Amino acid sequence: NITARKAAFTVLKRLRNNGYTAFYAGGCVRDMLIGREPKDYDIASDARPEEVESLFRRTVSVGAQFGVVLVMIKAHQIEVAAFRSDWGYTDGRRPDTITFTSPEEDAKRRDFTINGMFFDPIEDRVFDYVGGREDLEKGIIRTIGNPQERFEEDFLRMLRAVRFSAELGFEIEGQTLEAVSEFSERISRISSERIAVELEKIFLSPSPALGIRLLIQTGLSVGIFQHNFNEKSHGLSLLDFYGRSVSLEMGILLLFISDWQEAEQFARRLKLSSKSLGLIEWCRDNYSKLDCPDMALHKFRKLIADERFGFLFELRRAYQAFIGEPDDNLQIIKERQAGFAGKEILPKPFINGRDVINLGANPGPEIGDVLEKVYNAQLDFEVSSPEQALKLAKSLIEL
Ligand code: ATP
Ligand code: MG
Repeated sequence: NITARKAAFTVLKRLRNNGYTAFYAGGCVRDMLIGREPKDYDIASDARPEEVESLFRRTVSVGAQFGVVLVMIKAHQIEVAAFRSDWGYTDGRRPDTITFTSPEEDAKRRDFTINGMFFDPIEDRVFDYVGGREDLEKGIIRTIGNPQERFEEDFLRMLRAVRFSAELGFEIEGQTLEAVSEFSERISRISSERIAVELEKIFLSPSPALGIRLLIQTGLSVGIFQHNFNEKSHGLSLLDFYGRSVSLEMGILLLFISDWQEAEQFARRLKLSSKSLGLIEWCRDNYSKLDCPDMALHKFRKLIADERFGFLFELRRAYQAFIGEPDDNLQIIKERQAGFAGKEILPKPFINGRDVINLGANPGPEIGDVLEKVYNAQLDFEVSSPEQALKLAKSLIEL
């Protein structure tokens, strides 16, 4: 198992050995320069997509017409893109044709100066045509070129500016920030999928509250949330108080604190996965159960057996801490849960539907009812063997 870095180097080296120019490009260069482990490595090269494909055994043509090929090395995917002078546009569509160009022109089409550098790991050299190094040292997010023009090409860049600010703790440069405020309404032209990606990264950043605050200050929050958050919003204060990175679902629930309906509507508008939507709905349906720590044992076991329980518990814990009320109920639940450590919370049922039919139950909903009652009795330790379970089932059918 090799690291992403090693895999990327393998690809870069092979391109170079075959006479092509090839550099690390964009975000990974930024991360390497500030000593952050890059999440993924992108390579920019003068090799054409067909040429890249001929050099590697496993490639995926994600957008050959845009000059991009994915090279698969073990479990890693390295994106190899030709130096090109076109990027995605505001309407979400990519340009129909692209122009292959020089590294310098390629750099100038990227979004921010800190994202516009190349790195040659063989010569250990940085290529900086856009003043990225200086901004990286100063901790500044600045568009490459005129911010208004660059945002009009792709309004998502406004949200990316905020995202990088939250991730890196950098400040958005004055004119860039002004342009974000000027065009903030137009964020609504960007697809919800692209917005969700950036929003998730803001929540996962070390300081999500700072990111959300920037969204509010620039006016981006109006178009994104379609909700009037302000600096004093309860949800923002909660996020602030929580003070660390959160998942997208947790972030939404904290921000829309105790307004399940709005949280759900927002998640749906963002077109989150059915798993994410399911998580939010499950929390809504089960949240109040945490007020009754002495619920019946079978109910308790079903609750804590759910893989979403940890998330729900954390949500509630954050809220209780925020309002400054010690939550004795949560404490009781935790202790009750500890009693199940290392034990099977939901064991296999002693009997199944066939058994119930054999006892003479009418086919239909009765069978499910009986099974559930018997299983609850099993979880409550009221029956402790298949024989006892059958006996209970029989008596239920005869009722
Ligand atoms: P991350 O660490 O989250 O992956 P990143 O900077 O690598 O951040 P990506 O979305 O992976 O961001 O994009 C890789 C590079 O492509 C960026 O660093 C930037 O140079 C360029 N880029 C990405 N999106 C845009 C855009 N919308 N407009 C212009 N350039 C972009
Ligand atoms: Mg990246």
